[in-house]
Amino acid sequence: MNMSVPVSLQSRPRFPIVIAMRLSQFHLHTSKETPADAEIASHQLMMRAGMIRKLAAGIYTWTPLGLRVLRRVETVVREEMERAGALELLMPAVQPAELWQETQRWEQFGGQLLKIRDRLQRDFCFGPTHEEVITDFARFEIRSYKQLPLNFFQIQTKFRDEIRPRFGVMRAREFLMKDAYSFHLTPECLGQTYQVMYDAYARIFTRLGLRFRAVDADTGAIGGSASHEFHVLADSGEDAIAISNASDYAANVEKAEALAVGSPGVASAPLCKVDTPTQRSIEEISEFLQTPPSRCLKTLLLKGKKGLVALCLRGDHELNEIKAAKLPELGAAAALASEDEIRQQLGCSPGFIGPVGLPENIPVIVDRSAALLADFVCGANIEGAHYTGANWQRDAVAKQVADLRKVVAGDPAADGSGPLQLVRGIEVGHVFQLGQKYAEAMGANVLDEQGKARTMHMGCYGVGVSRIVAAAIEQNHDDRGICWPGPMAPFQVVLCPIYKKADSPVVDYTESLYAELLSKGVEVALDDRGLRPGVMFADLELIGIPHRLVIAERGIESDQIEYRQRESTENELWPMAEVRERILSKLGA
Ligand code: ATP
Ligand code: MG
Repeated sequence: MNMSVPVSLQSRPRFPIVIAMRLSQFHLHTSKETPADAEIASHQLMMRAGMIRKLAAGIYTWTPLGLRVLRRVETVVREEMERAGALELLMPAVQPAELWQETQRWEQFGGQLLKIRDRLQRDFCFGPTHEEVITDFARFEIRSYKQLPLNFFQIQTKFRDEIRPRFGVMRAREFLMKDAYSFHLTPECLGQTYQVMYDAYARIFTRLGLRFRAVDADTGAIGGSASHEFHVLADSGEDAIAISNASDYAANVEKAEALAVGSPGVASAPLCKVDTPTQRSIEEISEFLQTPPSRCLKTLLLKGKKGLVALCLRGDHELNEIKAAKLPELGAAAALASEDEIRQQLGCSPGFIGPVGLPENIPVIVDRSAALLADFVCGANIEGAHYTGANWQRDAVAKQVADLRKVVAGDPAADGSGPLQLVRGIEVGHVFQLGQKYAEAMGANVLDEQGKARTMHMGCYGVGVSRIVAAAIEQNHDDRGICWPGPMAPFQVVLCPIYKKADSPVVDYTESLYAELLSKGVEVALDDRGLRPGVMFADLELIGIPHRLVIAERGIESDQIEYRQRESTENELWPMAEVRERILSKLGA
């Protein structure tokens, strides 16, 4: 290895062959127009820079420019999978229906599954994911515990017939995914590989230069024991995430545990019924009774499994429906009681419900923070009336205290650190301990040391390779275009010669610098398209090449080359003799 190449260049993925990097031959096709259907920055910029072209809804061609970026991501992903000990294979995109029937997913997967028929009317699908195919492979390939553990991965095109394909390649129908599947004799062994893959994912996103967080995810219906999503942080992200500023704690807002806030109050006021003829909402009551919303109780009546259930929260807090659905009294089918049902049961309308004097057959479940309140305001279960000075135990009985609310910014994190900050994220990876669900359904067994058949344990690990490209742009752009993190840029450096005559010294100098940088393994583009400088610079900023060198006649006379970093608005002037060293050191920085 050439020792003069900076370390960071050595770890950068290389192309096996140097392809044309003279931009006149590269088919750049940029545009000033923003397509009408492109709602978010990454979609707009990928279209304007000419990285992708739409063929049909959610189906795109990657142009030579776009493909260079996609391949960079792919290469880092592949290298880290291999480093983690995973073995690359390539499974078919088209899968027979019989496999999906074995796991019941032919029906369960729903409309996202693109079903197709061959000429003999046999059913197939275009693979949205490959658990069935890999489990089928494993049940024939793996016979003995001695072969385990094994971890296979592929980088391959998936198809999901998304209801609303949008945001370009961010939520496409056809997209590139890295999917890996591991096989184990024991859950402990699965846990170890899971950790190795978790670490590999962290390295992938770090190497790509992205700001990301690993988020504790819900294992949901599959019932595995652990699952994490990896999110690239960006304001336009579809997911809301609660992160701690003081630790690694991060959870989807839907799932984030809310601790009690506020200190326990002491009852000091008498219970007093007050007329609130038209005041129903927390805002109206709070203003009318001059009490902050945090001391007004919000009571919701839900239809549970065995009748009505009252949920009480502080007026400034919101119910988290996913947490409510997990209460044994409620379940996923629970819904708010209708106005008629409330009237029938309590004789008042929804704006006047409270825990004081509720019929005994309606259990009261109180959020942790609401349970700390004293002398609070709540509905009196009488039309047009509320109580002030209400207190738990003395005036109202809570059957149970539970975590019912959505976390808000400033809350303590569940691990005791914090405060929590609410940010938005784009899911770019997902690691999951599947357990035995697929192996059991498809009979993927191995013989153990005693010669006894045992069902294998499985993990699965996905990376949205094409989505990463869009996510990186969401996180890194400005009003002039894309600002690629170095490791993802289609070219590292661009040379911009500006000259009038063909025999200009600019041409010689540029050509020799170009050849020299190429020989050092730098991915350098030469903009020989002959554009006016303003047009050329705007184009290169849109595409987002991190480092630009402008070689002009005047500069050569005064021994100065203009350097500019993509995000900067200022030029640096470099002496010609130092250009090579300085650019290499920028790339190594
Ligand atoms: P989402 O919740 O965004 O629909 P998912 O949970 O269905 O994603 P997985 O089955 O976990 O996705 O797939 C692994 C990865 O593939 C995801 O983390 C995501 O980065 C990527 N991915 C999933 N669906 C799409 C899509 N329609 N377009 C592009 N990438 C996708
Ligand atoms: Mg997922």
